[in-house]
Amino acid sequence: MPDAYADQTTDTSSAREHLLAAYTTLRLGGPAGTVTAVDHPDDAVSVVRETAAAGRRLLVLAGGSNVVIGDAGFDGEVLLLRNRGVEVVGEDPASVLVRAAAGESWDAFAEYAVSNGWSGVECLSGIPGSAGATPIQNVGAYGQEVAHTIEAVHAYDREAGAVRVMSPDECAFAYRSSVFKHNDRYLVLSVDFRLAKSADSAPIRYAELARSLGASAGDRVPLRLARDTVLKLRAGKGMVLDPEDRDTWSVGSFFTNPVVPAAFFAGLSGSAEMPHWPGADDTVKLPAAWLIENAGFPKGFAGDGVAISSKHTLALTNRGAGTTGALLDLARTIRDGVHARFGVELHPEPVLVDCAL
Ligand SMILES: Cc1cc2nc3c(=O)[nH]c(=O)nc-3n(C[C@H](O)[C@H](O)[C@H](O)COP(=O)(O)OP(=O)(O)OC[C@H]3O[C@@H](n4cnc5c(N)ncnc54)[C@H](O)[C@@H]3O)c2cc1C
Repeated sequence: MPDAYADQTTDTSSAREHLLAAYTTLRLGGPAGTVTAVDHPDDAVSVVRETAAAGRRLLVLAGGSNVVIGDAGFDGEVLLLRNRGVEVVGEDPASVLVRAAAGESWDAFAEYAVSNGWSGVECLSGIPGSAGATPIQNVGAYGQEVAHTIEAVHAYDREAGAVRVMSPDECAFAYRSSVFKHNDRYLVLSVDFRLAKSADSAPIRYAELARSLGASAGDRVPLRLARDTVLKLRAGKGMVLDPEDRDTWSVGSFFTNPVVPAAFFAGLSGSAEMPHWPGADDTVKLPAAWLIENAGFPKGFAGDGVAISSKHTLALTNRGAGTTGALLDLARTIRDGVHARFGVELHPEPVLVDCAL
């Protein structure tokens, strides 16, 4: 499989001098205390145990595509997960159970699934980072999320001091959330995905994708076509990593789509023209990108060395000379502007490490 971390240094001999910017897609983050890269799950567990025994703080990093790390860095142990591998661990006439090591590249896994004729993750093509991080925020895009296919998560439980096999219920998956997010109790070591043996995709659920495919919602299309179309749509929005394109120096969407009570939505000024999606329990999900644009922050809106992507309103990007401080200033300006205009609170999607919004 291609090396998702090829552009990132994992030479730990000089790691003490390393800025964490070298390990994040934002290319932001100050110095690390120590950095240890592991390519075996047992070694990862050992690092976790030893760090705890030494009373030191631990930061787990894989692809670094969903973290914002403060300019002062992280004065503790940074564990870089690089354990790789994908294996079929179960099979029936209709499906395969595939285990991906936590440090495996997510997009390599998606490509592997498509090339083997296994459906369920094709619409999640092009998402950066690792397979092991996908359960953390229940990664989703274009109508799929990993909660649809995850059968089990193998995780080291720091409280129990043992590896557990966690069911989807125990993972408590929700929109861009799970039991793992903002919770350092668990270290995910591998993830089991139940994928359908099918040359065709799962039913297409996302309107923009259906339009691009010339299909209707609910149609199935050839797996390869689904993957290629998603990759093309994502690339047009700067949502596929490209070292040459600073519109991709981001964490993807910086804000989640706010979910508000239906009664609150009905009373919002401008709700008549606001796109929205009715959700469960009398809630309504609002498009953060629409709120941001209509609060006066267009694509390209710039701060100090940072800017909203010129291709996607939800992506805050480092233009090369940015700092985490400047990125968070820009995020605050946007959040406060949206609140002043609509009374709606935006929340950050990435994990903020030793910094705050
Ligand atoms: C251009 C771009 C596009 C994106 N598009 C999407 C998208 O469409 N949908 C979406 O949902 N996300 C998207 N993201 C966000 C990101 O890619 C995903 O959240 C991804 O799963 C993060 O993986 P990672 O390996 O980079 O995690 P990291 O950034 O390394 O870590 C993220 C968090 O998870 C924790 N963590 C990571 N691995 C483990 C582990 N094995 N065990 C325990 N904790 C762990 C870290 O400590 C940290 O808190 C995008 C990001 C970028 C840069």
